[in-house]
Amino acid sequence: MKKTLFVFLGFLILGVGVYFLTPSPKLSKDYCAFCDPKVLTAQKIYEDDTVIALYTHKPVMPGHCLIIPKRHAERFEEITDHESAYLSRAIKKIDQAATKVFGTTSYLLLQKNGAEAGQTVPHVHFHYFPKQTGDDSSLKFLLKMYIANLKKPIDSSEMREVCEKMKKAM
Ligand SMILES: [Zn+2]
Repeated sequence: MKKTLFVFLGFLILGVGVYFLTPSPKLSKDYCAFCDPKVLTAQKIYEDDTVIALYTHKPVMPGHCLIIPKRHAERFEEITDHESAYLSRAIKKIDQAATKVFGTTSYLLLQKNGAEAGQTVPHVHFHYFPKQTGDDSSLKFLLKMYIANLKKPIDSSEMREVCEKMKKAM
């Protein structure tokens, strides 16, 4: 039992070390996934005049969504008050739906501005991470984020299924 614990702790420390030592991926300037109609069509769970919400192709946990303004703006300080209000409204809608679909109790919002902050897509986006009862470790969450990046994207049938469930719950 003790040995298993040490092995687990070893992997944990290794994982966290690799996460913090790996240089952040570059912020792409030539391509914007969130202006790509193919991405928007395949992953859309919510849309109004100003905002669109997507289910992410590499979820850190079930229910991981992205909320973005439709207009291309790279950083949060570039968005208008109108967009900001609509983003807030959409975040609340996504939370209500995710709570129903995934049975979650809490959530974390994450929004990065600039390569140094880890931003990779040059378009303002809020990550919505729903949390289950018992998900209280931020260290475990960092590891999950790192692992999700290395994983293959979810397949198109799973994506369709989750998007349908979320749309229905909205
Ligand atoms: Zn864009």
